[in-house]
Amino acid sequence: MKIVFATANPHKLEEVKAICGDCNIEFALPNEGFTPIENGSTFEENSLIKAKEAYRVSKTYCLADDSGLCVEALDGAPGLYSARYAGTQNEKIEKLLNELSGTNNRAAKFVCCMTLLDDKGNMIYQTTGECKGYIVKKRKGINGFGYDPIFLVDGYSKTMAELTSEEKNKISHRAIALKKVLKFLQNMS
Ligand code: IMP
Repeated sequence: MKIVFATANPHKLEEVKAICGDCNIEFALPNEGFTPIENGSTFEENSLIKAKEAYRVSKTYCLADDSGLCVEALDGAPGLYSARYAGTQNEKIEKLLNELSGTNNRAAKFVCCMTLLDDKGNMIYQTTGECKGYIVKKRKGINGFGYDPIFLVDGYSKTMAELTSEEKNKISHRAIALKKVLKFLQNMS
């Protein structure tokens, strides 16, 4: 089965392929012209917007992921705006660490909402995965992407960027959501 994965982020596509392993799904990028306008007010809405935009240009099964980092002491920020929180990824991390400099509450979670459309463009499944942890004071590790170097995973003494991709892909918000999608697809066939 072929599914278009609605993203422009190559890291996400690599993770999705690795999490899927030998699940017999061929993930492809959307056809040319994929330009989602992420103006929803929830991860669910933005995930649906991306899935619909991928369907508009690709006209087949489409899976979208909208994800972000929600920090408790910042009332859930950067959340939906994780990708647009500041300029470069370094600047985003610096801004977040500055915002948290006066607080001891470092609790945070990564959230990933996935939406699956069928080959008629109808939404057939939507689900969310979460991965809880803490924001460390100094970045550590070189793996992964985004906020991984400052996110200490609950139950591990390593940041997400210190985990191997195999380790991350077992416990991440994206893995949790995608495994539910794969189960749904299995039950469908
Ligand atoms: P999206 O492409 O609108 O879903 O933006 C998600 C943003 O959230 C990314 O650009 C990252 O900054 C952040 N993010 C989402 N998932 C992860 C992850 O697995 N690790 C680190 N940062 C992530």
